Amino acid sequence: MSLKVYAFTCGWLTVPTALLLEGESGHLTVPVPAYLIEHPKGCALFDSGLHVDTQTDADRRLGRLAPFHTVHFSAGEEIASRLRAVDVAADRIDYVINSHLHFDHCGGNEQLPNATLLVQRREWEAAHDADLIEKVYYDPHDYDHGHRVRAVEGEHDLFGDGSAVCFPTPGHTPGHQSLRVRIGREDVVLTGDACYLRRTLDELHLPTAAYDREQMLASLRRLRTLRDKGSVIITGHDPEMWRTIPQAPALLGVPAS
Ligand SMILES: [Zn+2]
Repeated sequence: MSLKVYAFTCGWLTVPTALLLEGESGHLTVPVPAYLIEHPKGCALFDSGLHVDTQTDADRRLGRLAPFHTVHFSAGEEIASRLRAVDVAADRIDYVINSHLHFDHCGGNEQLPNATLLVQRREWEAAHDADLIEKVYYDPHDYDHGHRVRAVEGEHDLFGDGSAVCFPTPGHTPGHQSLRVRIGREDVVLTGDACYLRRTLDELHLPTAAYDREQMLASLRRLRTLRDKGSVIITGHDPEMWRTIPQAPALLGVPAS
């Protein structure tokens, strides 16, 4: 089964480059991606972008993260509007696969009332542990909205046919996961923040912010192995790579007919 996958840009963030590449100076403006995955058995998102409130009051919404992030996010760029633009109502989304539970990956969950959240159990537990909420910079306002939750452990084949498979890539956060999707003849890996930039993968250049550096390196090596075997790797926040990614309503890649 080949999927239809659409890429959306749900805003941009300007951050100190060192946050993404340890030891570097300056600032970088990076995209906030989300992806729609259409399958005969249902509609899924991989990540949901920023909360709509960050369009009008980012400082309050981001709280202690505000000093490190300048938000560029306009009306019409939030996930519900991005979906509407491809004729998908937000209440039609069956699953949100959250790579992890940081504000720029699950902030849009609140706009998806009928979705089941598909997260690694380790991530869900970490994001409900007071110490880790503090240490890993979670904010329950982004993900505690009463959705059904499917907390998985390890690889998970969403539709049962190998077309969309989540797999753990921990390190950035305790239970981070990435998603492998089958588009036509290609395996495309959406890394989320397991890998911020192409350079992260090429140089194994870690960010400043990593929950567990050894785990993060191991996850990057796994992604490299997938790349060596022919998978296309789409990293989490690479502005240069993002310029080459077709945006909805164009399809990401060509599905098999
Ligand atoms: Zn991120």
